[in-house]
Amino acid sequence: MPFKTIIEPFRIKAVEPIRRTTWDERAAALAEAGYNLFLLKAEDVLIDLLTDSGTGAMSAQQWAGMMVGDESYAGARSFFRFEAAVQEITSFRHIIPTHQGRAAERILFGSVVKTGDIVPNNTHFDTTRANVEFRDARALDIPVAESRDPQHIHPFKGNIDLDLLEQTLADHPGRVPLSMITVTNNSGGGQPVSMANIRAASEICRRHGVPLLLDACRFAENAWFIKLREDGYADKTPLEIAQEMFSYADGCTMSAKKDGMANIGGFLALNDDGWAQQCKNLLILTEGFPTYGGLAGYDLEAIAVGLKEALDEDYLRYRIRSVEYLGEVCLHNDIPIVLPTGGHALYIDAKSMLPEIPWKQYPAWALSLALYQEGGVRSVPIDSVMFGRQPDGSEKPAANELVRLAFPRRVYTQSHVDYLAEVLIYVNEMRDSIRGVRMIYEPPVLRHFTARFAPIGMDESG
Ligand SMILES: *Cc1c(COP(=O)(O)O)cnc(C)c1O
Repeated sequence: MPFKTIIEPFRIKAVEPIRRTTWDERAAALAEAGYNLFLLKAEDVLIDLLTDSGTGAMSAQQWAGMMVGDESYAGARSFFRFEAAVQEITSFRHIIPTHQGRAAERILFGSVVKTGDIVPNNTHFDTTRANVEFRDARALDIPVAESRDPQHIHPFKGNIDLDLLEQTLADHPGRVPLSMITVTNNSGGGQPVSMANIRAASEICRRHGVPLLLDACRFAENAWFIKLREDGYADKTPLEIAQEMFSYADGCTMSAKKDGMANIGGFLALNDDGWAQQCKNLLILTEGFPTYGGLAGYDLEAIAVGLKEALDEDYLRYRIRSVEYLGEVCLHNDIPIVLPTGGHALYIDAKSMLPEIPWKQYPAWALSLALYQEGGVRSVPIDSVMFGRQPDGSEKPAANELVRLAFPRRVYTQSHVDYLAEVLIYVNEMRDSIRGVRMIYEPPVLRHFTARFAPIGMDESG
Protein backbone atom coordinates (compact mmCIF):
# COMPACT_ATOMS: atom_id res chain seq x y z
CA MET A 1 0.00 0.00 0.00
CA PRO A 2 1.27 3.50 -0.82
CA PHE A 3 0.21 4.84 2.64
CA LYS A 4 2.59 5.19 5.54
CA THR A 5 0.30 6.29 8.39
CA ILE A 6 0.23 3.61 11.05
CA ILE A 7 -3.34 3.40 12.32
CA GLU A 8 -4.81 1.81 15.45
CA PRO A 9 -5.46 -1.70 14.09
CA PHE A 10 -8.92 -1.87 15.68
CA ARG A 11 -12.16 0.05 15.80
CA ILE A 12 -13.93 0.95 19.01
CA LYS A 13 -17.03 -0.95 20.14
CA ALA A 14 -17.42 0.33 23.70
CA VAL A 15 -16.33 3.72 25.02
CA GLU A 16 -15.51 4.88 28.53
CA PRO A 17 -15.72 8.65 29.19
CA ILE A 18 -12.75 10.39 30.79
CA ARG A 19 -13.21 13.44 32.97
CA ARG A 20 -11.58 16.88 32.77
CA THR A 21 -10.77 18.62 36.05
CA THR A 22 -9.64 22.17 36.83
CA TRP A 23 -6.15 23.12 38.00
CA ASP A 24 -7.55 23.88 41.47
CA GLU A 25 -9.34 20.54 41.66
CA ARG A 26 -6.09 18.79 40.81
CA ALA A 27 -4.18 20.81 43.43
CA ALA A 28 -6.73 19.73 46.04
CA ALA A 29 -6.63 16.10 44.85
CA LEU A 30 -2.82 16.06 45.17
CA ALA A 31 -2.90 17.46 48.72
CA GLU A 32 -5.52 14.90 49.71
CA ALA A 33 -3.42 12.07 48.23
CA GLY A 34 -0.35 13.07 50.24
CA TYR A 35 1.38 13.99 46.97
CA ASN A 36 1.44 10.33 46.00
CA LEU A 37 -0.16 9.63 42.61
CA PHE A 38 -0.92 6.05 43.68
CA LEU A 39 -3.34 7.52 46.24
CA LEU A 40 -5.36 9.61 43.74
CA LYS A 41 -8.86 8.63 42.71
CA ALA A 42 -8.61 7.36 39.12
CA GLU A 43 -11.69 9.47 38.29
CA ASP A 44 -9.60 12.58 38.86
CA VAL A 45 -7.11 11.52 36.17
CA LEU A 46 -7.56 12.48 32.51
CA ILE A 47 -4.92 10.29 30.85
CA ASP A 48 -3.79 7.47 33.09
CA LEU A 49 -0.29 6.25 32.31
CA LEU A 50 0.41 4.94 35.79
CA THR A 51 0.84 1.47 34.41
CA ASP A 52 0.26 -0.78 31.44
CA SER A 53 -0.62 -3.54 33.89
CA GLY A 54 -4.18 -4.83 33.72
CA THR A 55 -5.32 -1.56 32.16
CA GLY A 56 -5.69 -2.76 28.57
CA ALA A 57 -8.87 -3.01 26.52
CA MET A 58 -9.97 -6.55 25.83
CA SER A 59 -10.99 -7.60 22.34
CA ALA A 60 -14.39 -8.85 21.23
CA GLN A 61 -12.81 -12.32 20.99
CA GLN A 62 -11.67 -12.15 24.60
CA TRP A 63 -15.13 -11.09 25.80
CA ALA A 64 -16.62 -13.89 23.76
CA GLY A 65 -14.16 -16.29 25.41
CA MET A 66 -15.29 -15.09 28.82
CA MET A 67 -18.86 -16.15 28.03
CA VAL A 68 -17.77 -19.74 27.48
CA GLY A 69 -15.58 -19.85 30.60
CA ASP A 70 -15.87 -23.14 32.46
CA GLU A 71 -16.12 -22.45 36.20
CA SER A 72 -15.61 -26.04 37.35
CA TYR A 73 -13.43 -26.17 40.44
CA ALA A 74 -11.05 -28.77 39.05
CA GLY A 75 -10.13 -29.80 35.53
CA ALA A 76 -12.10 -27.03 33.82
CA ARG A 77 -12.07 -26.87 30.03
CA SER A 78 -10.88 -23.26 30.33
CA PHE A 79 -7.74 -24.42 32.11
CA PHE A 80 -6.83 -26.77 29.29
CA ARG A 81 -7.34 -24.00 26.72
CA PHE A 82 -5.15 -21.71 28.80
CA GLU A 83 -2.51 -24.41 29.25
CA ALA A 84 -2.46 -25.14 25.51
CA ALA A 85 -2.08 -21.45 24.65
CA VAL A 86 0.82 -21.02 27.07
CA GLN A 87 2.47 -24.23 25.94
CA GLU A 88 2.23 -23.34 22.26
CA ILE A 89 4.33 -20.26 23.00
CA THR A 90 6.63 -21.51 25.76
CA SER A 91 6.74 -25.34 25.48
CA PHE A 92 7.20 -25.54 29.26
CA ARG A 93 5.95 -28.75 30.89
CA HIS A 94 4.09 -27.40 33.92
CA ILE A 95 1.78 -24.38 33.58
CA ILE A 96 0.58 -23.06 36.93
CA PRO A 97 -2.01 -20.24 36.88
CA THR A 98 -1.77 -17.50 39.52
CA HIS A 99 -3.84 -14.40 40.21
CA GLN A 100 -1.02 -12.15 38.96
CA GLY A 101 2.72 -12.02 38.39
CA ARG A 102 3.81 -11.40 41.96
CA ALA A 103 1.92 -14.50 43.13
CA ALA A 104 4.00 -16.54 40.69
CA GLU A 105 7.11 -14.87 42.14
CA ARG A 106 6.11 -15.50 45.74
CA ILE A 107 5.32 -19.14 45.09
CA LEU A 108 8.50 -19.73 43.11
CA PHE A 109 10.85 -17.97 45.54
CA GLY A 110 8.93 -19.35 48.52
CA SER A 111 9.63 -22.84 47.19
CA VAL A 112 13.22 -22.64 45.96
CA VAL A 113 15.00 -19.60 47.48
CA LYS A 114 16.60 -19.82 50.94
CA THR A 115 18.13 -17.34 53.37
CA GLY A 116 21.45 -16.03 52.06
CA ASP A 117 20.82 -17.08 48.45
CA ILE A 118 21.52 -14.78 45.51
CA VAL A 119 19.21 -14.27 42.52
CA PRO A 120 20.80 -12.46 39.55
CA ASN A 121 18.59 -10.65 37.02
CA ASN A 122 19.20 -7.94 34.43
CA THR A 123 17.03 -5.70 36.64
CA HIS A 124 14.53 -6.97 39.18
CA PHE A 125 11.08 -5.43 38.94
CA ASP A 126 9.99 -3.97 42.30
CA THR A 127 7.72 -6.89 43.30
CA THR A 128 10.35 -9.39 42.14
CA ARG A 129 13.01 -7.73 44.26
CA ALA A 130 10.65 -7.51 47.24
CA ASN A 131 9.76 -11.19 46.95
CA VAL A 132 13.43 -12.25 46.77
CA GLU A 133 14.31 -10.04 49.75
CA PHE A 134 11.30 -11.38 51.68
CA ARG A 135 13.18 -14.73 51.63
CA ASP A 136 16.22 -12.97 53.17
CA ALA A 137 18.01 -13.50 49.89
CA ARG A 138 19.83 -11.01 47.68
CA ALA A 139 18.29 -9.64 44.47
CA LEU A 140 21.34 -8.82 42.33
CA ASP A 141 20.86 -6.48 39.36
CA ILE A 142 23.48 -6.97 36.64
CA PRO A 143 22.35 -5.13 33.52
CA VAL A 144 24.92 -4.35 30.82
CA ALA A 145 26.92 -1.17 31.42
CA GLU A 146 25.24 0.55 28.44
CA SER A 147 21.94 0.53 30.35
CA ARG A 148 23.26 2.90 33.00
CA ASP A 149 23.49 5.87 30.66
CA PRO A 150 19.96 6.95 29.68
CA GLN A 151 21.18 8.89 26.63
CA HIS A 152 23.29 6.08 25.19
CA ILE A 153 21.70 4.46 22.14
CA HIS A 154 22.04 0.69 21.96
CA PRO A 155 19.54 -1.74 20.38
CA PHE A 156 19.44 -4.11 23.37
CA LYS A 157 19.98 -2.10 26.53
CA GLY A 158 17.96 -4.68 28.46
CA ASN A 159 20.75 -7.27 28.14
CA ILE A 160 22.16 -8.94 31.23
CA ASP A 161 25.91 -8.54 31.82
CA LEU A 162 27.25 -11.97 30.85
CA ASP A 163 30.65 -11.53 32.54
CA LEU A 164 29.04 -10.56 35.83
CA LEU A 165 26.61 -13.48 35.51
CA GLU A 166 29.49 -15.90 34.95
CA GLN A 167 31.42 -14.40 37.85
CA THR A 168 28.42 -14.50 40.21
CA LEU A 169 27.76 -18.16 39.46
CA ALA A 170 31.47 -19.04 39.75
CA ASP A 171 31.94 -17.12 43.03
CA HIS A 172 28.84 -18.48 44.78
CA PRO A 173 28.44 -22.18 43.96
CA GLY A 174 25.31 -23.60 45.57
CA ARG A 175 24.05 -20.16 46.58
CA VAL A 176 22.29 -19.24 43.35
CA PRO A 177 19.08 -21.33 43.12
CA LEU A 178 18.06 -19.68 39.84
CA SER A 179 18.92 -16.82 37.56
CA MET A 180 16.40 -14.56 35.86
CA ILE A 181 16.16 -12.31 32.81
CA THR A 182 13.34 -9.77 32.58
CA VAL A 183 11.99 -9.25 29.04
CA THR A 184 11.64 -6.42 28.32
CA ASN A 185 13.57 -4.85 31.17
CA ASN A 186 10.78 -2.81 32.77
CA SER A 187 12.75 -1.10 35.55
CA GLY A 188 15.62 -0.51 33.15
CA GLY A 189 13.55 1.59 30.72
CA GLY A 190 11.43 -1.07 28.98
CA GLN A 191 14.50 -2.02 26.97
CA PRO A 192 14.65 -5.31 25.08
CA VAL A 193 16.99 -8.25 25.56
CA SER A 194 18.56 -9.78 22.45
CA MET A 195 18.21 -13.42 21.48
CA ALA A 196 21.99 -13.70 21.52
CA ASN A 197 22.07 -12.48 25.13
CA ILE A 198 19.35 -14.90 26.27
CA ARG A 199 21.13 -17.77 24.49
CA ALA A 200 24.51 -16.91 26.00
CA ALA A 201 23.05 -16.46 29.50
CA SER A 202 21.36 -19.82 29.13
CA GLU A 203 24.68 -21.49 28.22
CA ILE A 204 26.38 -19.95 31.26
CA CYS A 205 23.57 -21.03 33.57
CA ARG A 206 23.53 -24.58 32.18
CA ARG A 207 27.28 -24.89 32.59
CA HIS A 208 26.87 -24.01 36.29
CA GLY A 209 23.75 -26.16 36.73
CA VAL A 210 21.60 -23.13 37.55
CA PRO A 211 18.09 -22.89 36.05
CA LEU A 212 17.34 -19.77 34.00
CA LEU A 213 13.85 -18.30 34.22
CA LEU A 214 12.41 -15.48 32.17
CA ASP A 215 10.33 -12.79 33.82
CA ALA A 216 8.22 -12.89 30.68
CA CYS A 217 5.68 -10.10 31.29
CA ARG A 218 6.44 -8.38 27.97
CA PHE A 219 7.66 -11.33 25.92
CA ALA A 220 5.71 -10.23 22.82
CA GLU A 221 7.15 -6.70 22.82
CA ASN A 222 10.61 -8.20 23.30
CA ALA A 223 10.03 -10.53 20.34
CA TRP A 224 9.02 -7.52 18.22
CA PHE A 225 12.23 -5.67 19.03
CA ILE A 226 14.27 -8.76 18.15
CA LYS A 227 12.46 -8.88 14.80
CA LEU A 228 13.22 -5.20 14.15
CA ARG A 229 16.75 -5.01 15.51
CA GLU A 230 18.55 -8.35 15.54
CA ASP A 231 20.17 -9.92 12.49
CA GLY A 232 18.42 -13.00 11.20
CA TYR A 233 14.97 -12.36 12.67
CA ALA A 234 13.34 -9.96 10.20
CA ASP A 235 11.48 -12.75 8.42
CA LYS A 236 10.37 -14.64 11.53
CA THR A 237 6.97 -14.14 13.13
CA PRO A 238 6.74 -12.76 16.68
CA LEU A 239 5.43 -16.20 17.72
CA GLU A 240 8.46 -17.99 16.27
CA ILE A 241 10.78 -15.52 17.98
CA ALA A 242 8.97 -15.90 21.31
CA GLN A 243 9.20 -19.67 21.00
CA GLU A 244 12.95 -19.46 20.51
CA MET A 245 13.32 -17.07 23.49
CA PHE A 246 11.52 -19.53 25.77
CA SER A 247 13.48 -22.48 24.40
CA TYR A 248 16.59 -21.20 26.19
CA ALA A 249 14.86 -21.02 29.58
CA ASP A 250 13.78 -23.57 32.17
CA GLY A 251 10.64 -21.72 33.11
CA CYS A 252 9.09 -18.30 33.48
CA THR A 253 7.01 -16.05 35.68
CA MET A 254 4.35 -14.05 33.91
CA SER A 255 1.90 -11.29 34.62
CA ALA A 256 -0.96 -11.76 32.17
CA LYS A 257 -1.87 -8.14 32.92
CA LYS A 258 0.85 -7.15 30.46
CA ASP A 259 1.31 -9.20 27.29
CA GLY A 260 -1.50 -11.53 28.37
CA MET A 261 -3.82 -8.64 27.37
CA ALA A 262 -6.03 -9.42 30.36
CA ASN A 263 -7.17 -7.31 33.29
CA ILE A 264 -5.99 -9.86 35.84
CA GLY A 265 -3.99 -13.08 35.91
CA GLY A 266 -0.57 -14.59 35.60
CA PHE A 267 1.28 -17.86 35.65
CA LEU A 268 4.37 -19.73 36.64
CA ALA A 269 5.73 -22.18 34.08
CA LEU A 270 8.41 -24.76 34.88
CA ASN A 271 10.10 -27.74 33.30
CA ASP A 272 11.37 -29.29 36.53
CA ASP A 273 8.91 -31.82 37.98
CA GLY A 274 10.14 -31.46 41.56
CA TRP A 275 9.96 -27.66 41.57
CA ALA A 276 6.52 -27.75 39.95
CA GLN A 277 5.25 -30.12 42.64
CA GLN A 278 6.56 -27.90 45.45
CA CYS A 279 5.08 -24.80 43.82
CA LYS A 280 1.69 -26.45 43.29
CA ASN A 281 1.59 -27.40 46.98
CA LEU A 282 2.18 -23.79 47.98
CA LEU A 283 -0.31 -22.66 45.31
CA ILE A 284 -3.08 -24.75 46.87
CA LEU A 285 -2.34 -23.15 50.24
CA THR A 286 -2.72 -19.54 49.09
CA GLU A 287 -4.00 -19.24 45.50
CA GLY A 288 -6.22 -22.19 44.70
CA PHE A 289 -6.33 -25.58 43.02
CA PRO A 290 -3.69 -25.94 40.26
CA THR A 291 -6.24 -25.78 37.44
CA TYR A 292 -7.45 -22.30 38.41
CA GLY A 293 -4.83 -20.75 40.72
CA GLY A 294 -6.99 -17.92 42.03
CA LEU A 295 -8.52 -17.08 38.64
CA ALA A 296 -12.03 -17.57 37.33
CA GLY A 297 -12.47 -19.87 34.34
CA TYR A 298 -13.39 -16.82 32.28
CA ASP A 299 -10.07 -15.15 33.19
CA LEU A 300 -8.21 -18.20 31.87
CA GLU A 301 -10.15 -17.90 28.60
CA ALA A 302 -9.35 -14.18 28.27
CA ILE A 303 -5.65 -14.89 28.79
CA ALA A 304 -5.62 -17.80 26.32
CA VAL A 305 -6.96 -15.46 23.60
CA GLY A 306 -4.94 -12.44 24.75
CA LEU A 307 -1.55 -14.18 24.58
CA LYS A 308 -2.08 -14.76 20.86
CA GLU A 309 -3.38 -11.24 20.20
CA ALA A 310 -0.28 -9.80 21.87
CA LEU A 311 1.80 -11.47 19.14
CA ASP A 312 -0.17 -9.86 16.28
CA GLU A 313 2.19 -7.86 14.05
CA ASP A 314 -0.18 -4.97 13.29
CA TYR A 315 -0.88 -4.55 16.99
CA LEU A 316 2.81 -4.62 17.94
CA ARG A 317 3.72 -2.17 15.15
CA TYR A 318 1.05 0.34 16.29
CA ARG A 319 1.91 -0.05 19.96
CA ILE A 320 5.67 0.35 19.68
CA ARG A 321 5.28 3.18 17.17
CA SER A 322 3.03 5.23 19.53
CA VAL A 323 5.75 5.23 22.16
CA GLU A 324 8.44 5.98 19.61
CA TYR A 325 6.40 8.90 18.20
CA LEU A 326 6.07 10.52 21.63
CA GLY A 327 9.80 9.97 22.09
CA GLU A 328 10.52 11.82 18.85
CA VAL A 329 8.44 14.79 20.04
CA CYS A 330 10.51 14.85 23.25
CA LEU A 331 13.78 14.77 21.32
CA HIS A 332 12.72 17.65 19.08
CA ASN A 333 11.84 19.69 22.17
CA ASP A 334 14.95 18.88 24.21
CA ILE A 335 13.08 16.80 26.78
CA PRO A 336 15.60 14.23 28.07
CA ILE A 337 14.32 10.68 27.74
CA VAL A 338 15.76 7.19 27.97
CA LEU A 339 17.01 6.24 24.53
CA PRO A 340 16.05 4.44 22.49
CA THR A 341 12.35 4.44 23.42
CA GLY A 342 11.28 1.16 24.97
CA GLY A 343 8.28 -1.06 24.45
CA HIS A 344 5.49 -0.24 26.84
CA ALA A 345 6.53 3.16 28.08
CA LEU A 346 8.37 6.39 27.60
CA TYR A 347 10.82 7.22 30.38
CA ILE A 348 11.72 10.83 31.10
CA ASP A 349 15.14 11.37 32.64
CA ALA A 350 14.26 13.63 35.56
CA LYS A 351 17.88 13.83 36.74
CA SER A 352 18.76 15.62 33.50
CA MET A 353 15.57 17.65 33.27
CA LEU A 354 15.65 18.91 36.89
CA PRO A 355 19.37 19.01 37.76
CA GLU A 356 18.77 21.51 40.58
CA ILE A 357 16.69 19.07 42.61
CA PRO A 358 18.93 16.75 44.70
CA TRP A 359 18.08 13.02 44.69
CA LYS A 360 16.92 13.15 48.32
CA GLN A 361 14.20 15.55 47.17
CA TYR A 362 13.17 13.01 44.54
CA PRO A 363 13.20 14.88 41.20
CA ALA A 364 11.28 12.16 39.33
CA TRP A 365 8.55 12.22 41.97
CA ALA A 366 8.36 16.02 41.67
CA LEU A 367 8.13 15.84 37.87
CA SER A 368 5.33 13.28 37.94
CA LEU A 369 3.38 15.54 40.32
CA ALA A 370 3.81 18.44 37.88
CA LEU A 371 2.53 16.36 34.94
CA TYR A 372 -0.63 15.65 36.91
CA GLN A 373 -1.03 19.18 38.22
CA GLU A 374 -0.68 20.80 34.80
CA GLY A 375 -2.16 18.21 32.44
CA GLY A 376 -4.15 15.69 34.48
CA VAL A 377 -1.69 13.01 33.33
CA ARG A 378 -0.76 10.25 35.77
CA SER A 379 2.71 8.70 35.40
CA VAL A 380 4.91 6.75 37.79
CA PRO A 381 8.37 7.60 39.13
CA ILE A 382 10.91 4.77 38.80
CA ASP A 383 13.40 6.34 41.13
CA SER A 384 15.02 6.59 44.55
CA VAL A 385 11.62 6.44 46.24
CA MET A 386 11.08 3.03 44.63
CA PHE A 387 14.62 1.67 44.94
CA GLY A 388 16.53 3.91 47.37
CA ARG A 389 15.76 2.06 50.58
CA GLN A 390 18.30 -0.69 51.30
CA PRO A 391 17.50 -3.94 53.12
CA ASP A 392 19.52 -2.66 56.14
CA GLY A 393 17.29 0.44 56.36
CA SER A 394 19.83 2.88 54.94
CA GLU A 395 19.22 4.94 51.80
CA LYS A 396 21.17 5.39 48.63
CA PRO A 397 20.26 6.93 45.28
CA ALA A 398 18.80 4.72 42.56
CA ALA A 399 20.84 4.37 39.35
CA ASN A 400 18.41 6.71 37.58
CA GLU A 401 15.58 9.09 38.47
CA LEU A 402 12.99 8.30 35.79
CA VAL A 403 9.34 9.16 35.20
CA ARG A 404 7.61 6.37 33.35
CA LEU A 405 4.64 7.06 31.06
CA ALA A 406 3.26 3.56 30.58
CA PHE A 407 0.83 2.94 27.73
CA PRO A 408 -2.22 0.78 28.45
CA ARG A 409 -2.79 -1.67 25.59
CA ARG A 410 -5.33 -0.66 22.89
CA VAL A 411 -6.77 2.12 25.10
CA TYR A 412 -5.54 5.48 23.86
CA THR A 413 -5.46 6.83 20.31
CA GLN A 414 -3.16 9.15 18.41
CA SER A 415 -4.96 12.31 19.58
CA HIS A 416 -4.41 11.26 23.20
CA VAL A 417 -0.73 10.93 22.36
CA ASP A 418 -0.72 14.40 20.75
CA TYR A 419 -2.30 15.85 23.89
CA LEU A 420 0.39 14.16 25.98
CA ALA A 421 3.06 15.68 23.78
CA GLU A 422 1.63 19.14 24.48
CA VAL A 423 1.61 18.52 28.23
CA LEU A 424 5.22 17.32 28.20
CA ILE A 425 6.38 20.36 26.23
CA TYR A 426 4.49 22.71 28.56
CA VAL A 427 5.87 21.16 31.75
CA ASN A 428 9.39 21.14 30.31
CA GLU A 429 9.13 24.86 29.62
CA MET A 430 8.08 25.60 33.22
CA ARG A 431 10.59 23.20 34.78
CA ASP A 432 12.45 25.91 36.73
CA SER A 433 9.39 26.34 38.95
CA ILE A 434 9.13 22.62 39.87
CA ARG A 435 9.97 21.98 43.53
CA GLY A 436 11.29 18.80 45.13
CA VAL A 437 9.43 16.82 47.79
CA ARG A 438 10.14 15.54 51.30
CA MET A 439 8.88 12.13 52.45
CA ILE A 440 6.79 12.56 55.59
CA TYR A 441 5.48 9.00 56.00
CA GLU A 442 7.30 5.84 54.98
CA PRO A 443 5.84 2.29 55.17
CA PRO A 444 8.25 -0.62 55.80
CA VAL A 445 8.07 -2.33 52.35
CA LEU A 446 7.30 -1.21 48.77
CA ARG A 447 7.16 2.29 50.14
CA HIS A 448 6.33 4.09 46.89
CA PHE A 449 2.78 2.71 46.95
CA THR A 450 1.71 4.37 50.20
CA ALA A 451 4.38 6.88 51.27
CA ARG A 452 3.20 10.47 51.79
CA PHE A 453 5.07 13.62 50.82
CA ALA A 454 5.14 17.38 51.23
CA PRO A 455 6.40 19.74 48.55
CA ILE A 456 9.60 21.44 49.71
CA GLY A 457 8.84 24.95 50.87
CA MET A 458 5.28 24.16 51.87
CA ASP A 459 4.03 23.57 55.40
CA GLU A 460 4.10 19.81 56.11
CA SER A 461 0.44 19.78 57.00
CA GLY A 462 -0.11 20.75 53.36
C1 LIG B 1 4.19 -6.24 36.46
C2 LIG B 1 5.45 -6.98 36.59
C3 LIG B 1 5.60 -7.98 37.55
C4 LIG B 1 4.54 -8.30 38.58
O1 LIG B 1 3.31 -8.66 38.03
P1 LIG B 1 1.93 -8.28 38.74
O2 LIG B 1 0.91 -8.91 37.87
O3 LIG B 1 1.84 -6.79 38.83
O4 LIG B 1 1.95 -8.89 40.11
C5 LIG B 1 6.81 -8.66 37.57
N1 LIG B 1 7.80 -8.36 36.73
C6 LIG B 1 7.69 -7.39 35.79
C7 LIG B 1 8.82 -7.11 34.86
C8 LIG B 1 6.52 -6.66 35.71
O5 LIG B 1 6.43 -5.69 34.79
